[in-house]
Amino acid sequence: MNFSYSPKVEDLRRRVSSFMDEYIVPRHREWLDAVHAGQFPPPFMEELKAKAKAEGLWNLFLPHLKDDEPGTRLTNLEYAPLAEIMGRISWAPEVFNCNAPDTGNMELLHMFATPAQREQWLTPLLNGEIRSAFAMTEPDVASSDATNITTSIRRDGDDYVINGRKWFITNAAHPNCKIFIVMGKTNPDAESHQQQSMILVPMHTPGVKVVRNIPVMNHVSPEGHCEVTFTDVRVPAANLLGEEGSGFALAQARLGPGRIHHCMRSIGAAELALELLIERAQARKTFGKHLHQHGTVGEWIAKSRIEIDQARLLVLKTAWLIDEVGAKAARKEISMIKAIVPQLHTNVCDRAMQVFGAMGVSPDTPLADHWTWGRALRYADGPDEVHLQAIARMEIAQGKEKTGTSATYLTAPLRD
Ligand SMILES: Cc1cc2nc3c(=O)[nH]c(=O)nc-3n(C[C@H](O)[C@H](O)[C@H](O)COP(=O)(O)OP(=O)(O)OC[C@H]3O[C@@H](n4cnc5c(N)ncnc54)[C@H](O)[C@@H]3O)c2cc1C
Repeated sequence: MNFSYSPKVEDLRRRVSSFMDEYIVPRHREWLDAVHAGQFPPPFMEELKAKAKAEGLWNLFLPHLKDDEPGTRLTNLEYAPLAEIMGRISWAPEVFNCNAPDTGNMELLHMFATPAQREQWLTPLLNGEIRSAFAMTEPDVASSDATNITTSIRRDGDDYVINGRKWFITNAAHPNCKIFIVMGKTNPDAESHQQQSMILVPMHTPGVKVVRNIPVMNHVSPEGHCEVTFTDVRVPAANLLGEEGSGFALAQARLGPGRIHHCMRSIGAAELALELLIERAQARKTFGKHLHQHGTVGEWIAKSRIEIDQARLLVLKTAWLIDEVGAKAARKEISMIKAIVPQLHTNVCDRAMQVFGAMGVSPDTPLADHWTWGRALRYADGPDEVHLQAIARMEIAQGKEKTGTSATYLTAPLRD
């Protein structure tokens, strides 16, 4: 087992880091000011995207990228340390066309779109010309169980008609958001996992209404986590993604890579928080000692290092498994990282915020924003508890397969 990054990945890490240091970090203040002034995306965003594209730091997340598609093809394992670097600044992933939820949506379209759907939606997404949203969660039902979804997708002649209410739909307030992938029910009488389908709904179709951008812990994200209503929205039948009744399977296919990308970025956010914590603990003194010389703070530093390294190893193993056996076979590991990494993300940010004193909860460091996002990730793409339940189920099932040895051992009669 080799724990070092390959020379190719080391080179890319160096290039992504330099890009961040040279073009993104120095513009962070400008980004915040522009967004506060209502200019989103800020005017320099297109310039940065063009630079990243020209440097081959584009669409790094898509292992099945075709030769004629823009970007650099990498495995999930190769991409993980790069996503980690991007995760240090909330808006950086979009510069590299590697931001959620567009990456998950592009993966989905890459796998299931028809040639016409690819041309109309995937190509501009891969080019970074438009943005997209994924609409599954509904306010009226417990959406962590996707079989509860009630939005209806009803066939009417050559069209489908969509009615429903969704919320927390990320990207729906982005001015470049042009397409929703909507999950709803085409056949409520079918077997519970075959009732759902996904359909492509252009943003400006009559009947689509973005009702509000929901603040997360009072933080308003400019791209939005929006409540959206669909009232008698009519789209051609050709907009269906995959087969009727395949929505549940498509959602599982989409959420695998989507979840691991979130976790990779979270490791980067936690790493940044630890760096800031250490810097601050070395700079400030109380009661005659630097903060890191107080036992509690020293322990926070040590625990954070251990937890980040543990989580990173599991994320890398999961990335490797997805490359080797696919997201479906790696679903236990995907749930494992999704259940622990957002908590790690918030825990390390929380410790760093505490070491910064009152400044930790102000907008003068990136910590409070990173904490907020880590907290939100404990729901997005499935709450912790649902992942823990899935892990337990798989573990028990795998335990049964293995019962041979352990059961014999436990029930073997004592010998003289
Ligand atoms: C910032 C943010 C962005 C999001 N972006 C999107 C998006 O782009 N598109 C989209 O469709 N959705 C999005 N979501 C929604 C997210 O996917 C849902 O919130 C999540 O799936 C949970 O659904 P729910 O909120 O309906 O919670 P519910 O299903 O009502 O669950 C509530 C709670 O019940 C508990 N629970 C549920 N099942 C179990 C179980 N088996 N065992 C123990 N406890 C359990 C959990 O604690 C859970 O938090 C986003 C959410 C946030 C916060």
